[in-house]
Amino acid sequence: MMEAIHDVYSKLNGKFKGDLLRPKDDGFEEARVIWNGMFTRVPGVIARCADVTDVQAAVRAGFESGVLTAIRCGGHSLAGFSTCDGGLVIDLSKMRQVAVDADARRARFSGGCLLGSIDSATQKAGLVFPSGVVSHTGAAGLVLGGGTGWLTRRFGLSCDNVEGFTLVTADGSLVRANSGENADLFWGLRGGGGNFGVVTEFEVRLHPLTSVVLVEGYAADVRRTLELWREFMPQAPIDLKWNLDLRLAPQSPDVPATLRGRPVAGNSLIWTGDEDLAERYFTPALALCEPGSVKIRPISFLALQTMADAAFPHGRRYYTKSGYFVFLQDSTIDSLVEAVATIPSADTQIELAYLGGAAAAVEAAETAFGDRSAPFIMNLLANWQGAAVDHIHISWVRTLFEKLRPAMKPGVYVNFMSGDEQDRVPEAYRSHWKRMVAVKSHYDPQNFFRLNQNIQPTTG
Ligand SMILES: Cc1cc2nc3c(=O)[nH]c(=O)nc-3n(C[C@H](O)[C@H](O)[C@H](O)COP(=O)(O)OP(=O)(O)OC[C@H]3O[C@@H](n4cnc5c(N)ncnc54)[C@H](O)[C@@H]3O)c2cc1C
Repeated sequence: MMEAIHDVYSKLNGKFKGDLLRPKDDGFEEARVIWNGMFTRVPGVIARCADVTDVQAAVRAGFESGVLTAIRCGGHSLAGFSTCDGGLVIDLSKMRQVAVDADARRARFSGGCLLGSIDSATQKAGLVFPSGVVSHTGAAGLVLGGGTGWLTRRFGLSCDNVEGFTLVTADGSLVRANSGENADLFWGLRGGGGNFGVVTEFEVRLHPLTSVVLVEGYAADVRRTLELWREFMPQAPIDLKWNLDLRLAPQSPDVPATLRGRPVAGNSLIWTGDEDLAERYFTPALALCEPGSVKIRPISFLALQTMADAAFPHGRRYYTKSGYFVFLQDSTIDSLVEAVATIPSADTQIELAYLGGAAAAVEAAETAFGDRSAPFIMNLLANWQGAAVDHIHISWVRTLFEKLRPAMKPGVYVNFMSGDEQDRVPEAYRSHWKRMVAVKSHYDPQNFFRLNQNIQPTTG
């Protein structure tokens, strides 16, 4: 590996326009850090590309030298896939251009963009690209895996709004994928993660929206909230998104003193339709929330997109497991209520969202995204500090997951998986699996792009 990584450096040195960083170089320590503090790996070279030609050169050098290569956009992979020990990291963080065509309601953005850079650019034209809920998340990893967020019910998954990709494949070629060119690759890239190449540009559809109505509030009766939510959401209009976070109520002046530190259901609802109709759809949730905890307000789209940023800081330790439910059975609700009472960290959350809406209206075969038929999506997200207590938090997640699993629909959203779940990758794609393997085998037969929820090629 040592010799191979020297070879990569020599191949790039002199012609690379971006930054080439090795362990003793200034800036290397900052550059090697990714969001999840569980992963402190030390790459041999970080190639921070200035443009597409740099990406091609880095891919060719990594491929020819046979070094383990990680691709990084925002570095938010929960599984730690955007770094590696001793290998090459192709870092796209200098490639954050966004071009908006307001009349056509289209945008093009580069492969290193964070969600926040896209939101800021599109909002200047009063338009949105439906993406995730934390603005410091990388767009490339999120969109390639699917992409869920506040606007999923209204406008679909992020990947449903992509019209075309430009990517560098394992041999260094620049390839376009859209409905008319490389259609199989276009299909695979919408849900298949980073398996096929380094995406240098996304072409996407935008929608008009500048503000929403937001309700937030804590309910002490977790069971009743879950029961009401499971009955209410299947009939709700697509303008309503109602997320639940089961957790210990924060020790914050915003939370009534009687609730702080107690198990609660955190309710966050947005309404994207006619403001006058909002209240009628908020009423059931409001009836369960502690009145002193309720905030109801119109909020700009940019404020909505950044309001959770501070809750998920860089450098803490995170571990996740995720799954889908067709329906929340009473026994599942019992387990969730018990689990929230034993949560080992004040920052850990059981995140629950109801998809459906525009995301469910897209035909299953149209994209590689795993499952659109089970609307209840759950993410167990442990969040703590200190390596000495890793086992407590990881084991809480694993135990709860095993308990809930029999009631789940097999399947998992690849962006909510940890790095120890390779055995679940076929489960994530289920009916799409054979086609995914065929696309992977065609575009990356040697499995050069393998630091991802990996689809192994048949020829690799
Ligand atoms: C704080 C936080 C909030 C989140 N919120 C949401 C949410 O609201 N909705 C949601 O759907 N998901 C969410 N996620 C999950 C998120 O979608 C994934 O973590 C995603 O991988 C992050 O993308 P990234 O570009 O930052 O990741 P990176 O760590 O940079 O990369 C992740 C994967 O994508 C590949 N990759 C990165 N860039 C490229 C590229 N240009 N071309 C090809 N492959 C590439 C990498 O090889 C790697 O396998 C969240 C994650 C975090 C940490």
